[in-house]
Amino acid sequence: MSDCLFCKIINGEIPSSKIYEDEKVYAFNDIDPQAPVHFLVVPKQHIASALEITEKNADIPGHVFMVVAKLAKEMGFADDGYRIVNNCGKDGGQTVGHLHFHVLAGRNIGWPPG
Ligand code: AMP
Ligand code: ZN
Repeated sequence: MSDCLFCKIINGEIPSSKIYEDEKVYAFNDIDPQAPVHFLVVPKQHIASALEITEKNADIPGHVFMVVAKLAKEMGFADDGYRIVNNCGKDGGQTVGHLHFHVLAGRNIGWPPG
């Protein structure tokens, strides 16, 4: 999608600090980190939000969780744990209209959320 921030990051129009990439997803460090480890995993295909998950693209969330498990082991936060967050819509706190999963680690992430 031409006017989408994360599509522009995926296609290199806007620079990012890349962590991982495969045929389905792109992962990069969040510009405003909320934990020592804070990166985003986004599908390369433009999907506006979790509300747009259908039978056709339902493989994406599972793929994201698999990639994060692999990265957790490689990056060294598997043992201490991590949190995957998806914000959906206004009340969910979504500010960028391209589906993304936050990965937070490196400190005890509080619960419940604010
Ligand atoms: P959300 O509020 O769930 O939609 O999350 C959007 C996230 O994108 C926020 O954590 C922002 O800090 C992050 N973000 C916005 N612009 C950029 C950028 N250019 N590079 C990396 N992360 C970004
Ligand atoms: Zn997009």
